[in-house]
Amino acid sequence: MEQKPHIALLPSPGMGHLIPLVEFAKQFVLHHDFHITCIIPVLGSPSKAMKAVLQALPTTIDHVFLPPVILEEEEIKRLKFEVQTILTLTRSLPPLRDVLKSTRFSAFVVDPFGIEALDIAKELNISPYIFFPTNAFALSLIFHLPKLDETVSCEYRDLPEPLKLPGCIPIHGRDLSEPVQDRTSELYKMFLRNAKRFRLAEGIIVNTFMELEGSAIKALLDEEAKNLPLYPIGPIQGGSSNLQADKSESDCLRWLDNQPHGSVLFVCFGSGGTLSYDQTNELALGLELSGQKFLWVVRTPNNESADAAYLSDQTLDNNPLAFLPKGFVERTEGQGLAVPSWAPQAQVLSHGSTGGFLTHCGWNSTLESIMQGIPLIAWPLYAEQKMNAPLLAEDLKVALRPKTNKNGLIDREEIAKVVKGLMVGEEGKKVHNRMKDIKIAAEKALSADGSSIKALSELASQWKNHPGS
Ligand code: UDP
Repeated sequence: MEQKPHIALLPSPGMGHLIPLVEFAKQFVLHHDFHITCIIPVLGSPSKAMKAVLQALPTTIDHVFLPPVILEEEEIKRLKFEVQTILTLTRSLPPLRDVLKSTRFSAFVVDPFGIEALDIAKELNISPYIFFPTNAFALSLIFHLPKLDETVSCEYRDLPEPLKLPGCIPIHGRDLSEPVQDRTSELYKMFLRNAKRFRLAEGIIVNTFMELEGSAIKALLDEEAKNLPLYPIGPIQGGSSNLQADKSESDCLRWLDNQPHGSVLFVCFGSGGTLSYDQTNELALGLELSGQKFLWVVRTPNNESADAAYLSDQTLDNNPLAFLPKGFVERTEGQGLAVPSWAPQAQVLSHGSTGGFLTHCGWNSTLESIMQGIPLIAWPLYAEQKMNAPLLAEDLKVALRPKTNKNGLIDREEIAKVVKGLMVGEEGKKVHNRMKDIKIAAEKALSADGSSIKALSELASQWKNHPGS
């Protein structure tokens, strides 16, 4: 009997990268007859959310955990989450090689943090691919970075003029992805090295779609990524991944059931975003002041870093609500619900009562919102989110943006103004209408003869024709 082609996937440990890769795998086996194995590197131990996603996989997708990588307490404190992630993947390479050798794989798809693993694929004659979980704008920066590094002598944030990446909106150096903000750092060196190695792949799968970022995709194909196939297969989004049935999670869906249609602003900063103590306080008071209904996923504040919770198990942090202003929960009873650490976001966004989303602009959150036609308030924190915010607010015009005051905070009055603007103002109507158009375009891209489904088929043909198949 002829065997199905077998594909190996290598995600990175954060949920924001695991979810889209797993969803890509599900989409792929839904449309094409392949067998997929997800090879999972683990930092410390797998989080509850990670296990829930993997346990919900269909039978055509297997997963194997690699032996956990243990970082010293001191390394966890000192190193940025991107460096911790790269180290986790690098230290997982020996057992990864064993798994790749044990089966005849046709293609091997790696997360951008796992670029080092492409060498093993080459060595074992498995076609190497990259799954880029964000957008064409961020991918343009990757392809452009070696040139920028050669031609710019200062920090990018000190450039007087915005940068113009081909086919993309102009962007200030200070808003480029976090890893390129300090050129003297170890992270920048790792990022640059990875960027130069993108060309080792035989193709790049990118979680965007032609109708959303057509000019950036075309420019990549014509200029930056010449001769390297790009597969824009998005929006891949975590519709069915959030299957944990925690009490607080079902409580929040039940609470939504009792709210008027489109009345609730969902407030969530991705899988790991945190605010400072002062900013948490202002957000609470701003939501209260707005008088609008809200459902807020509250994290324990952190004054050191905005991505403090990215690689941690959210469910272990059980009392972030203790950091809310005194009397806030009681005063806003009936107006809003604050839930600790984690909510079933995809279900919340698809709930009829949700009418707006205050987001950190993570790309999965963005696509999940697009698929539900929910307009946004853009509040970027880390990674490439400061690039996504102008893309959403100024280019696509599906988001409003609050302004930061001279102390670096978004104060309560500004929050209340923007929240009211989105939920009941004229400006909110405009971004909502734009978002509805983009939702329709996304559905078209994912329809039988849509651009993303075609790209998926091209990829399947490539993989079927590989000698290993
Ligand atoms: N997510 C969730 N519940 C939460 C927070 C996040 O289900 O309380 C999911 C969200 O639906 C999305 C992912 O985690 O699929 C976050 O990815 P994104 O790219 O938006 O941000 P990141 O976490 O990578 O910063």
